[in-house]
Amino acid sequence: MPRRSPVVVLVAALALFACGGGDGTPTTTTLRPGTSTTTTSSPPTGATTSTTLPPAGFGAPGIGDPYFPNLGNGGFDVEHYLIETTVDPETGEITRGETTITATATAGLAGFYLDFRSLEVLEVAVDGATAVHEADGADLRITPTSPIAAGEEFVVRVRYRGTPGQTRLPGLGLASGWIITPEEVYVVAEPDGAHTWFPGSDHPADKATFTIVTTVPEPFAVVSNGTLAGETHSDGMATFVWEMDDPMATYLATIVVAELESVDRTGLEGIEIRDHLPADLAAEDPRPLQRTAEWIEFFETWFGPYPFASYGHVVVSGFGAALESQTMSVMDRAALVDVTVIHELAHQWFGDSVSIATWQDIWLNEGFATFAEFLWIEDQLGRDAMEADIEGRHAFMKRHSHRPISDPGVDELFGSAVYQRGGLTLHALRVKVGDDVMRDILRTYVARYTGANASTEDFIAVAEDIAARDLSVFFDAWLYESELPPLP
Ligand SMILES: [Zn+2]
Repeated sequence: MPRRSPVVVLVAALALFACGGGDGTPTTTTLRPGTSTTTTSSPPTGATTSTTLPPAGFGAPGIGDPYFPNLGNGGFDVEHYLIETTVDPETGEITRGETTITATATAGLAGFYLDFRSLEVLEVAVDGATAVHEADGADLRITPTSPIAAGEEFVVRVRYRGTPGQTRLPGLGLASGWIITPEEVYVVAEPDGAHTWFPGSDHPADKATFTIVTTVPEPFAVVSNGTLAGETHSDGMATFVWEMDDPMATYLATIVVAELESVDRTGLEGIEIRDHLPADLAAEDPRPLQRTAEWIEFFETWFGPYPFASYGHVVVSGFGAALESQTMSVMDRAALVDVTVIHELAHQWFGDSVSIATWQDIWLNEGFATFAEFLWIEDQLGRDAMEADIEGRHAFMKRHSHRPISDPGVDELFGSAVYQRGGLTLHALRVKVGDDVMRDILRTYVARYTGANASTEDFIAVAEDIAARDLSVFFDAWLYESELPPLP
């Protein structure tokens, strides 16, 4: 299969008109300086609610992802989310929700969309003025009182309440999104669960910093991303303020509401390591959680410096897997095994710090975390053990046909090929270029795209740049062809 061409984002060309969308806004609007002055008549009443082409003047309802065309939004970039919720741990309901988004318009906007579904919206305000809003499928369609000029920063505040619905992880069949169990309420939102609990631009291409403020009844605690910046108690309620100062993809934002105990880990200068465990596990202190500092140091020899100021695990039940939520991996009790702990740790570099450009690039997350498993097996058990493990995985993959991992399809987004063939691809590259060049490729790739996004083509360009050779035949065989190449 040929390499795909870059994704075309529909945004810029579509957001230049100011008009009423049949929702009560005027048909002629005074624009702020710097925007187009074209006006059009209103579209026919009864305009459709879920077309791919938005009404003129609106940002696009999707960011242009080939697999999830409605995720993300066109016409603006989010810089910061302030997510404030009060959560009832018994029912899982968000009894009070308020998300404040600071964004910059990338085009003149008569209006725009936010991804948001299943909750009751009480009020939307743009720059302090109440705006017209309406639900449009999994989007919220917002018309401010006056248009926003290209390049202008604006603030959207959405007040809401309700109990978020669940989504599913394609290819794994696991529940994702907002999960309610008898013990806890928590979020594991890959790939599209974030907009079930807060409105936003729910695509990894629009990364932002986050402040997550959650109020719960005592004695429940709230664990989230980054560092705990504040904790206050009043009238039997506790409020936890978590700050994530590095850019983060929406699906990596989490809260875990549960009765938890903190366990501090020492041994690594400059990185705070803290786990959050139910009381029985805190007493037991599972062995796979005890060696995080050592494993961060090991991965730094391959990937470069750990990209964040903190790391930890929060343990839940009822999920059956683990998710690499940024700086705070959410681990099911059943996932507390060494290989899963190191897999999620490796994602902090690959997926979290360097995020995929589109969901089609998912092997850049899962293939790299699988390759990290190989490195770890070699470090712990030796080269022979790693090669035996790799041969087993290659033999398994050879028995199953699958689409090329450069285009796995939505249904196999988290299928075994993305993981196993992705990891085998990187092992084959390591054998081809040698350990020193492979380390240089991985460290350069992380350094170049840290806090940002990369595509498959971006990784190939780094590899060819550092190896100083044309690798197109190699990558075509491993990424773009259906047939599994032999192991080197
Ligand atoms: Zn993974």
